[in-house]
Amino acid sequence: MSAQQTQEQGIELWQIRAECRGPQAEVFFPPPHFERKVDRLQRERRAKRICDHCAVKDQCLEYSLSIREPHGIWGGLNENERKSVLELAVLM
Ligand code: SF4
Repeated sequence: MSAQQTQEQGIELWQIRAECRGPQAEVFFPPPHFERKVDRLQRERRAKRICDHCAVKDQCLEYSLSIREPHGIWGGLNENERKSVLELAVLM
């Protein structure tokens, strides 16, 4: 896919290199039904392990913080962890 094609489709270039593309993407967001805490923690651990090997982890985290993404695992952090990062940034 060319840079022009990705811009036309609203895809950031770094997203093409994301480790979470494909079927494993489902562990990055909560299911549509109730999720027990133990299941959420297990799902998030699986997602974070994928993030640990992702070449675009820094870009992903930066993007999610810039848009205040409220859901899911981005850049190895869940929504509460990203919220803490943003709160710390305000204090600095
Ligand atoms: S850091 Fe994690 S959420 Fe972000 S693109 Fe990579 S695998 Fe996906």
